[in-house]
Amino acid sequence: MRRTKIVATVGPATAAIGPMRQLLEAGVDVVRLNAAHADMETHASNLRQVRELAQLLGRNIGILVDLPGPKIRSGVIRDGEVTLERGQEFVLTGRDQSEGDATRVATTLPRLAEWVQPGDDVYLADGAIVLRVLASDGRDVRSEVVRGGPLRSRKGMHLPSAEAHVEPFTERDALALEMAIAAKADFLGLSFVRRAEDVELVRAMLPKRGIRPALVPKIETASAIDNLEAIVRVADAVMVARGDLGIQMPARRVPLLQKEIIRFCNQAGKPVITATQMLESMTRSPLPTRAEVNDVANAVLDGTDALMLSEETAVGLFPIETVRMMSEVAESAEAWPRERVDPVADAAADGDRVAWAVAHAAVQAAEDLGVAAILCPTRSGETAHRVAAFRPRVPIAGISANPAVLGGLSLVWGVRPLFVADNADGNEQLRLAIAAARSAGIVRDGDLVACVFGSAGPRAGATDSVRIVRA
Ligand code: PEP
Repeated sequence: MRRTKIVATVGPATAAIGPMRQLLEAGVDVVRLNAAHADMETHASNLRQVRELAQLLGRNIGILVDLPGPKIRSGVIRDGEVTLERGQEFVLTGRDQSEGDATRVATTLPRLAEWVQPGDDVYLADGAIVLRVLASDGRDVRSEVVRGGPLRSRKGMHLPSAEAHVEPFTERDALALEMAIAAKADFLGLSFVRRAEDVELVRAMLPKRGIRPALVPKIETASAIDNLEAIVRVADAVMVARGDLGIQMPARRVPLLQKEIIRFCNQAGKPVITATQMLESMTRSPLPTRAEVNDVANAVLDGTDALMLSEETAVGLFPIETVRMMSEVAESAEAWPRERVDPVADAAADGDRVAWAVAHAAVQAAEDLGVAAILCPTRSGETAHRVAAFRPRVPIAGISANPAVLGGLSLVWGVRPLFVADNADGNEQLRLAIAAARSAGIVRDGDLVACVFGSAGPRAGATDSVRIVRA
């Protein structure tokens, strides 16, 4: 049973009911809808379809709506494409949106010229082209092309030195947020987060009660790296967004940052997703490169909770094969002995110390006894989160009557989300949990199981007990 979770982006290649069903059957745990593309009606309809299919297949599939964030773009290019040559001058203008050519292009930032200084680097074509600012007259920016290349219409643009001026939340983000809340998405990806306050800003817009999506800041800016600790503290989960991170920072730093971010999240007990270009060549080919297979396996060895597919499943020619490949590689890498993570010291520092200690004790007892599974009946999902943070060798079941809690657990390493009809208390809670695990085939009659739970009481998630019982 694979323990690393798979997040797959749905797009034109997989939005129809047949391919989407195959995608889920191939082992996808969380479906990602990228709100940077397509209209909100299309996303809402895809989301409904995922929910219907999940019900049909008896699976608890999570849904991640990825908000586009303040993505800056260069403007339209006459005839679609020009090539910029190293050493030439090039003008960026925010003041009009006229068509660009080989000498100038518009941008989506009207006040760009007020924010850059001579010597700043500006990246065009999603990082492929580098410009160095020569001068700004407060209206236009004159620059020299340091690294040339083809520039097409409306490509991503980065200006790390001026990113603090960019509003963190856009009109399109607001539309996507509204859609995600209405459709009860489980996770919200937050793009181009720079500081913990950017996460708090979105949290303040969520409904005050009822079902709220978990917030997943994407670590993809240089500022987010500087503020990693504070961002992880306010996040529900984190994404290592290697695509944009490799533009904002030298690409050679991305493998090391990936390890650092994953270790940091593991110690804080927060789920972490490793994203982008994991099996990129499978967008066009039925087989991945050896380097990609290594990359997927190494992310598992680094300790990631989840692996993400983007274009591979959104627009690729072999989406189902890609999910199967990722699943096989991840499962195989999981067999390699890993260093133990000990989240207690860090995670408990600003959390419930009793709950962390009980989860730790449950994992220790489960492994000493070789139990069939650790069962976590949970109202908030926290118990299963904490148990998973210790990366036990035995299966973990997160058991709840609340579909939103099960959706949240879909991303967590090693946790199998299981539905029960009732969040009972006491012995009835244990009986229902064991029955759910038995019907899911995780435990058999007579197996020893460890149950971790909160005793009866109003405090959801207050894990305070572990019992070893026979199924
Ligand atoms: C990334 O940059 O790695 C990423 C996941 O973001 P997006 O796919 O939204 O550009």
